[in-house]
Amino acid sequence: MQDEYLLRRAPAPSPFIPSGLVLQVPPVAITTTRDMLQRAGRREACVFWYGDRDGNLATVRSVRAPRQRSMPGNYHVEADAMSEMVHDLPEDWKPLAQIHSHPGTGTEHSRYDDAMISSRRVLSLVFPAYGKQTAPWPQGIGVHEWQNDYWHMLAPKQVHDRLIVMPGPALDARDFR
Ligand SMILES: [Zn+2]
Repeated sequence: MQDEYLLRRAPAPSPFIPSGLVLQVPPVAITTTRDMLQRAGRREACVFWYGDRDGNLATVRSVRAPRQRSMPGNYHVEADAMSEMVHDLPEDWKPLAQIHSHPGTGTEHSRYDDAMISSRRVLSLVFPAYGKQTAPWPQGIGVHEWQNDYWHMLAPKQVHDRLIVMPGPALDARDFR
């Protein structure tokens, strides 16, 4: 497997049209996600967000890291590790986002990321610097959404409208590594 930064993808075939969907993210979900990503050291890691979805509004309730292989330039999760991670999840909680880290400041999807995403109904977030905070949220974070056969990277204004940081219910956090 090559380092994924070598796997540049084609540009978006059409502009992204904002969906009107909103994801509410409690601040503690962001710090928990950073902690879990940084546990892999100078290697890429992935974390998943689950929670409620009600109409256009979804709320992050759980941050979970599956068993995985972390390498400096990519990561890998087996199907059985995904099953293990979700088997005790409350039935009404849905997958909301897949998050992974990149080594440097580039946070656009690679072709590898396009292939590794577990669902086209979730957001895909890429954190720079192996999860270390380098700028105030959400600067530097790559937020991707599937639309018209492409994982669009949202512009800053679109990210601002799509992800709202606000306190929420108590957070479930589980690390299966
Ligand atoms: Zn990636």
